[in-house]
Amino acid sequence: MLDTPIDYLKGVGPQRGELLRKELGIATYGDLLWHYPFRYVDRTRFHTVREVREDLPQVQLRGVLRDVRIVGEKQARRLTAKLVDATGSIELVWFKGIRWLQPVLKEGLELIVFGKPTVFRDKYNIAHPEIEPAAAWDQHPPARLQPVYSTSEKAAAKGFHSRGIGKLVQALLPQLEGQLPETLSRDLIDTLGGVAREEALLEVHAPHDQARLDRALRRLKFEELFFVQLRLLKQKQLMQQDVKGNIFAHVGDRFNAFYNTHLPFPLTGAQKRVVKEIRKDMGSGHQMNRLLQGDVGSGKTLVGLLSMLIALDNGFQAALLAPTEILAQQHFKSIARFVEGLPIVVRLLTGSTKAAERKSLLTALRLGEVHILVGTHALLEDRVVFHHLGLVVIDEQHRFGVAQRARMQAKSVVPPHVLVMTATPIPRTLAMTLYGDLDVSVIDELPPGRKPIKTVHRDDHARNAVFGFLEEEIARGRQVYVVYPLIEESEKSDLKHLMDGYESITRRFPLPKYAVSIVHGRMPPEDKDFEMARFVKGETDIMVATTVIEVGVDVPNASVMVIENAERFGLSQLHQLRGRVGRGAEHSYCILMTGDKLGNDSRTRIATMVRTQDGFEISEVDLRLRGPGDLMGTQQSGIPELHLADLVQDAELLQYARRMAQRLLDEDPHLQDPRHAPIAGTLAEQMRAGPIWGRIG
Ligand code: ADP
Ligand code: MG
Repeated sequence: MLDTPIDYLKGVGPQRGELLRKELGIATYGDLLWHYPFRYVDRTRFHTVREVREDLPQVQLRGVLRDVRIVGEKQARRLTAKLVDATGSIELVWFKGIRWLQPVLKEGLELIVFGKPTVFRDKYNIAHPEIEPAAAWDQHPPARLQPVYSTSEKAAAKGFHSRGIGKLVQALLPQLEGQLPETLSRDLIDTLGGVAREEALLEVHAPHDQARLDRALRRLKFEELFFVQLRLLKQKQLMQQDVKGNIFAHVGDRFNAFYNTHLPFPLTGAQKRVVKEIRKDMGSGHQMNRLLQGDVGSGKTLVGLLSMLIALDNGFQAALLAPTEILAQQHFKSIARFVEGLPIVVRLLTGSTKAAERKSLLTALRLGEVHILVGTHALLEDRVVFHHLGLVVIDEQHRFGVAQRARMQAKSVVPPHVLVMTATPIPRTLAMTLYGDLDVSVIDELPPGRKPIKTVHRDDHARNAVFGFLEEEIARGRQVYVVYPLIEESEKSDLKHLMDGYESITRRFPLPKYAVSIVHGRMPPEDKDFEMARFVKGETDIMVATTVIEVGVDVPNASVMVIENAERFGLSQLHQLRGRVGRGAEHSYCILMTGDKLGNDSRTRIATMVRTQDGFEISEVDLRLRGPGDLMGTQQSGIPELHLADLVQDAELLQYARRMAQRLLDEDPHLQDPRHAPIAGTLAEQMRAGPIWGRIG
């Protein structure tokens, strides 16, 4: 029934059916049923003419018609009338349908009028209101809550405005009675206020009252969220059954030697907890797929290293994958430094590794003489063969695709454990939905002694003072970043902006007293690396750059991050950029420069940055501002489609749905209990459509 083509519905037919398909994506009865109203209007509420204000989305008035007349010529020809009530009068106007309206709109007729008030020549009017004679209204008052449906301009022009769609739905509903099978168990229905599926679906399209509507909406939103979670948890269950993992049963010499004699500082509580989680995973017999979220500077590298040592202790090799050459070098250096003096061989492989060195390295790797291999994409090449790869740690997941992850996995018969580390915190609700089939660890604590980064907002007028401040910091031996937006590296105006900025900075900070680096995406990679390296080594004082420096670079001596046109950056980018400072210096600063005119969203972003340094809090604000789709970008298009539920507004219901789904699988892993049959059937049907691929890229 639900798959019936929409053409067959009374009042549709092939032509209008085509329009519904093309314009609104409604191809079947089911599509129409799931074309939920996006809001409801209360048709029992009346305004008086005096109460009309422009910012009211709609008003409903009751009054008497006066001065009905046709005015204007040709294009401007229109029918106007006054609606008069006890408090005043307002103009109604029609540009279309004049021929058949004119005879209906009689002087003195009492009318119910519903529409959007606008101001025209300093007076309120309502164009093309919905109208109904008051007498008819009183005889058959409409349902209190009327659904409002979304539509397109073209569809609306052909009669599928909200009301037109409403009529179709009303024609459909009686046919569907008895055709909408239950999807939840009795228990769950009861916890949700006892609304059966059919009842809920009918209610949202034809509400009886607010309370019943609310219960129906809640039930349907729950259902959507519940099945997303159930699918993810089921996928995870299947993965754990099907994909066997190497068992890292014990923690041995290398881990212990490092832990007891080489650890330069005590682990934070969060680091300890996460290492324990990882250890348990890798000892369990199924393959680990764990996402490690931790703010910049929270000490993820060390967690990665400790995990790798466990692999080594069990006779396996480990690999650490970084998105850029510079990051790979930094990781290599810090890991080599950490394990210095221990019998652990760490090597680096990148695109610029010399041929001779590469050859000996690859041989040693194949023989198992290299224990930890750090590198870039170069690690993915086919000629890179491990003796016994047991664990892959991926740093900063955003630059790696699913395909690349798969290539890494293919380097071993039994797939290696995978730990993905990201410094881009993802709001809890989103993580639950996107990574619901992964295990997620969170480092929510920074190493002790971190000084907060003082963040301020300055507008362009304060530029001189800001430069003065940079001068002082450089005089103290510190280094400074000045970052420009370059959203599209091809945008000429942005590049010019960057070059102008660079010029004014070199004028203010001239050679030989100062040295200024510049890095942007249009430079040849070698030049970029060269400039970057100069700044890392402390040979330059100022790094003028675009966001290419966003990822991971560690220059502890840098103490100031100036972000130009900060209003043009997204919150997560601002947060990432700020994370480049505060890694060593006594005091660090982030200066957000903007023009003096800011939109609301920009203002919120800047204020959030000034207020907090907590990446999770920032990501929650970001989610509220941008919505899940934009937040994750196109690479993460795996966000399942939700018709009714909203990851921001229904966060609590989502967590409830997740708990219920988890509880269900704990109690009845294969959904064999007859009471769970409706759930099992729905789940099976949904899983036939394929897995939810909202995965770490
Ligand atoms: P991120 O999570 O951003 O990758 P890093 O792993 O680069 O962070 O760590 C940031 C800095 O903090 C490094 O210099 C690291 O040596 C240091 N660090 C890590 N763990 C601790 C700890 N428990 N106590 C003190 N410093 C730590
Ligand atoms: Mg890092």
